[in-house]
Amino acid sequence: MQTVTILGATGSIGCSTLDVINRHPDKYRVFAITGNQQIEKLLQQAKDCAARYVVLADDNLYDKAREMAAQMQVESEILCGHKALEEVASAPEVTSVMAAIVGAAGLLPTLAAVKAGKRVLLANKEALVMSGALFIDAARQSGAEILPIDSEHNAIFQCLPDNFEYGELAASGIKQILLTGSGGPFRERTLATFSDISVEEACHHPNWSMGRKITVDSATMMNKGLEFIEACWLFGATSDDITVVLHPQSVIHSMVQYNDGSVIAQLGNPDMRTPIAYGLAWPERIDAGVAPLDFAKMADLSFSSPCYERYPNLKLAIDACNAGQAATTRLNAANEIAVAAFLDGEVGFTDIARINEETLNKLEPVSVSSLQQILEEDRKARDVARELVRGIA
Ligand code: NAD
Ligand code: MG
Repeated sequence: MQTVTILGATGSIGCSTLDVINRHPDKYRVFAITGNQQIEKLLQQAKDCAARYVVLADDNLYDKAREMAAQMQVESEILCGHKALEEVASAPEVTSVMAAIVGAAGLLPTLAAVKAGKRVLLANKEALVMSGALFIDAARQSGAEILPIDSEHNAIFQCLPDNFEYGELAASGIKQILLTGSGGPFRERTLATFSDISVEEACHHPNWSMGRKITVDSATMMNKGLEFIEACWLFGATSDDITVVLHPQSVIHSMVQYNDGSVIAQLGNPDMRTPIAYGLAWPERIDAGVAPLDFAKMADLSFSSPCYERYPNLKLAIDACNAGQAATTRLNAANEIAVAAFLDGEVGFTDIARINEETLNKLEPVSVSSLQQILEEDRKARDVARELVRGIA
């Protein structure tokens, strides 16, 4: 029996995780679930899955949550605040932690789970983008198992040889990691109209149903950029080892190309319950509730290379990956501010990449290694990006 904490339970990945867990009451029990603002949804989830703890990130919501829990007859204990997020991620009873908070807010609780040696189901790519070396070192020291939930990284993980050693791509006969991406909703849109893209258009992904931030990141392909950095850290790859391939149908979730000419791919319907079930049950396989791929009904699979003029954020991310930890932390921070400003109607779609690029240009190169320094670079980049947003708005 695994005892699971779900960080970010009210989100898209959190809900899919609860769905998979519900299918296997004999295998998984929920220890804690956490959320940010949606108190009622979180309490209902707690009631349904009989979570021992419910955690709200915001301290100020404690009284309201207690009151609602009494009304809804929720028996879970209510906790609030950032320390509580870290506590439920690292509690001794917990075996597995789903890290599904969006953005930098997920860094500290995810790191707490890593340091405590848990099985960490990593959906929160921003945490790894920010803290790369520190995160991987902490996992090595504690013995934490990091299982990638991002569908591409989960696919790559499945396509690597069983005896794959971190960073040993050449020794495993690997020529390339082929990181696939759909190209989002604007793959064929006329470039001249990009500044007119509305929030509604950007929030509609052709294949996946996800939270709003990652959906906008998919439209700009910053998501693929973050995933590029994520793949380097997860597998000990360099940027030369990874090629981004556009694959609009999202049937192949990524591939590994070997020296002998073989390419191993993982396929499936675009449903995050597949990688979630894989992470929960690894090395076994369990039912995820996902419909099997129907090859008779499948349309043609197509592939192409991404164009940086259309997806400037992808280029920024690959350059940042080569520049190092300060650059990737700053880019992630600027992007969170820019995307939030776009969603709030303060800046346009094409401003997102502009804000990201100018933020990186305005800050002097530094090298960072400690958590303190990473958080400082995150803060500095947010300040610069906010200033740029104010300039535009
Ligand atoms: P979402 O917006 O649907 O959910 C985010 C969750 O984080 C919610 O539970 C929310 O309450 C919580 N949260 C938000 N801000 C918080 C804060 N300041 N403090 C504490 N909690 C906070 O997002 P999602 O689509 O589920 O994505 C979650 C993570 O998984 C992201 O990092 C995303 O990149 C990654 N991911 C998502 C998908 C997907 O299909 N949705 C696929 C791959 C990777
Ligand atoms: Mg992905």
